[in-house]
Amino acid sequence: MNGTAISLKRNISPERYYAERLNGSFGKATGKGWHQWNGLCPFHKDKRPGSLVINRTTGAYRCFSCGTKGGDIIDFHMQRHSLSFSDAFFDLRRMTKCVR
Ligand SMILES: [Zn+2]
Repeated sequence: MNGTAISLKRNISPERYYAERLNGSFGKATGKGWHQWNGLCPFHKDKRPGSLVINRTTGAYRCFSCGTKGGDIIDFHMQRHSLSFSDAFFDLRRMTKCVR
């Protein structure tokens, strides 16, 4: 990962990203920054909240139903919107500019 991506991640807290971009909220803590997400997984036709876990510190996520996972909000943004790394990166950078 290059330096620009690291500084981007420093500017967007995973906690805020998920709270703003996903329906739901952080639920029960499962240890080491991981929380069960009280909302539906956006990666499969989820009907029951609780399959998705998110690390509110690192932004890593994992769905125990469909198996989708990633290490940070850039991965999440890419997968959710089917973007390339650079498209996801610029999209997120735009987001940091409008929230500042
Ligand atoms: Zn899923």
